Amino acid sequence: MITKISPVLYRLTNFCWLFLPTLLFFSALFGAYFFYTTLFQSWLVNLWWMSYASLTIAGIIAWQFGRSRLVYACLLMMLIAADKQLALTAELLDIRYAGILCGFVFLLYSRDKGFSAINLCFSIAVLLLLFVFSWIAIPLLQIASQTWLSSLDSLLFQLSPDIRSLVTPFNSLLLIMGLVIGLVRLLFRTDNTHNALFFALLLSALMQIYPDADFTLISMLSLASLFCYSVLKDSFTMAFKDELTGIPSRRALMQYVQTLGRKYTVVMSDIDHFKKFNDTYGHDVGDEVLKLVASKLNKVTGGGKTFRFGGEEFIIVFPRKSAIEVTPFVEVVRQTIADYDIALRAKPRPPKPKNQSAKKPAKEKIVKVTTSFGVAHRTKEHSDFASIMKQADIALYAAKKGGRNCVKVAKQ
Ligand code: GH3
Ligand code: MG
Ligand code: MG
Repeated sequence: MITKISPVLYRLTNFCWLFLPTLLFFSALFGAYFFYTTLFQSWLVNLWWMSYASLTIAGIIAWQFGRSRLVYACLLMMLIAADKQLALTAELLDIRYAGILCGFVFLLYSRDKGFSAINLCFSIAVLLLLFVFSWIAIPLLQIASQTWLSSLDSLLFQLSPDIRSLVTPFNSLLLIMGLVIGLVRLLFRTDNTHNALFFALLLSALMQIYPDADFTLISMLSLASLFCYSVLKDSFTMAFKDELTGIPSRRALMQYVQTLGRKYTVVMSDIDHFKKFNDTYGHDVGDEVLKLVASKLNKVTGGGKTFRFGGEEFIIVFPRKSAIEVTPFVEVVRQTIADYDIALRAKPRPPKPKNQSAKKPAKEKIVKVTTSFGVAHRTKEHSDFASIMKQADIALYAAKKGGRNCVKVAKQ
């Protein structure tokens, strides 16, 4: 396999890009709420039904997109919204608190399994069991943890007697544990759904600790919006990003083309002898090389935007630039790809002697790939995108004929 650059750093960057903006959003929202409470209250008067409405809409959208976990999350949150109607005793409030917290942890660690009858029954049964478990276990755990929870209790008092009056040490311990377990999951599975579920876990606990009707309403509305955003963002990514390479797909290119003005250049690129590369090192290694080439092409300078067109072909579009202007930028990428040492730890596939033992120690091997480029810009004769693509394709063919690993500009 090809050596990868610091996956831990990559994971952390992804996590920060997703988690921090959401955290900032909720901090700003609740900061504004606590600062201008009376103003918010005057806006929200008689809007209690919005919690149900927004959660229902979010639930229907999630259901339509097959996001079963977000549907269950909406149901769990409705249990909090129904606070007044349920009129729970203090004991039942504790059970609901723990049940919902465990429910969100379960959702964070499970997968979207769709809505077949068997999956539906399984998930609802697990969620119900978590409430039953909370009902049975909480009194026992509270008694068992009484002695060593006293230090957490005094810490809470020192921090703020107000906070201590809202949350018991046992419930704050449950919250801390839930948050840590949820954060670990989010760190390892950083995506919009897990991010939304993590914030649902956090806010669901806060809504129960601080049962203020307006705070609950704002939390519900913002969480329902976050759920909808996460479903739509994921669908957008699926539709417009290439799954293998992570760069924009052909569909994104077709949409991007419509935004271009009267002057732009299209560069068509194709990996040289890629079929042979696949045959020698295997399709999996070929996939890794495709990702590598895509990442290099994606770093093109000069304002170029890269798309995977299909197979091992990529398109770079340079808005507001002519073919001659973009050629130096394309030359830089071509050279970068050609110079790159690809470290393989895979054995060449064929031929495989019949009686050879299955595995030999993998030996590192340095290989290289090259790419050819065809460049064409918009002219009076070739003014529509399809026709410019055709010109770029002809130039690419000339590059292949001219020995590959080179850039050719169309004769226009
Ligand atoms: P040329 O230098 O003329 O472009 O030769 P080539 O072998 O690259 O050209 P050809 O079009 O014959 O082969 C393209 C190969 O790209 C065929 C296929 O095995 C490989 N390929 C296309 N898509 C993928 C992919 O997603 N993953 C992998 N691993 N290989 C792919
Ligand atoms: Mg090809
Ligand atoms: Mg090729």
